Amino acid sequence: MTSRPTLLGLPYDASSSFLPGAAEAPPVIRAALQSPGGNAWAERMVKTATPDVLIDAGDLALPASADARPMIEAAIRDLANARMPFIALGGDHSITYPILRGLHQAYPSLTLVHIDAHPDLYEEFEGDRFSHACPIARVMEEGLAARVVQVGIRASTAHQRDQARRYGVEQIDMRAWVDGARPSTSGHVYVSLDLDALDPAFAPGVSHREPGGLSVREVVTMLDTLGGELVGADIVEFNPRQDISGLTAIVAAKLVKELAAQCMVESD
Ligand code: MN
Ligand code: MN
Repeated sequence: MTSRPTLLGLPYDASSSFLPGAAEAPPVIRAALQSPGGNAWAERMVKTATPDVLIDAGDLALPASADARPMIEAAIRDLANARMPFIALGGDHSITYPILRGLHQAYPSLTLVHIDAHPDLYEEFEGDRFSHACPIARVMEEGLAARVVQVGIRASTAHQRDQARRYGVEQIDMRAWVDGARPSTSGHVYVSLDLDALDPAFAPGVSHREPGGLSVREVVTMLDTLGGELVGADIVEFNPRQDISGLTAIVAAKLVKELAAQCMVESD
């Protein structure tokens, strides 16, 4: 059985601590997906772009307030209960917490693969427990993932290292990555992909540029070799205001295609 993935835009950046702009990402990623500068085929030779495979559910109309969270959760719960895989387009990284709440009923023992320069494990950030610096702490305290593997980490803090230990979060930081560590997963898998995991040379259009990151090639190969059934994914923190020559939009669109291909082939 193949499962056509649903594309869902979540234009929300009210929990960004530094720069606004991530809410503007979904239509920019869609435009890159449909650009005649590329084609609709993923590397696995699955033709993915709309309308052949990808179901486009459009953008959720979200307020720039805490009221957005239950709306995100409800939309994801509908997809998950229908066993429809999806790719959510952020938005800032705070959206991952309500997404995982929406998944929990359908997928109670999920493995979260969190690809990011930052662990996003702050107990609170500048007084906000729901900041984009905190979603993984919220996920852990509510037991929304049976296992969390973080990849690409290179801008942690002592507090976040303590949080990772406290919650049993596995980390493949960039030093471990260079030493050859790679994630391996099974069962139901969710991928949360913060584009700042990539080196800013590949993806400059992010709010928090952190040098020393992953290449596009490394991320694509990692996604291709994860294992398990991909039940959903998000691509977050793309900030079009920070982009250069549409480069990050094209990277995001490529990652949509590769994730969509994963949904099509992993659910036999
Ligand atoms: Mn993040
Ligand atoms: Mn980040």
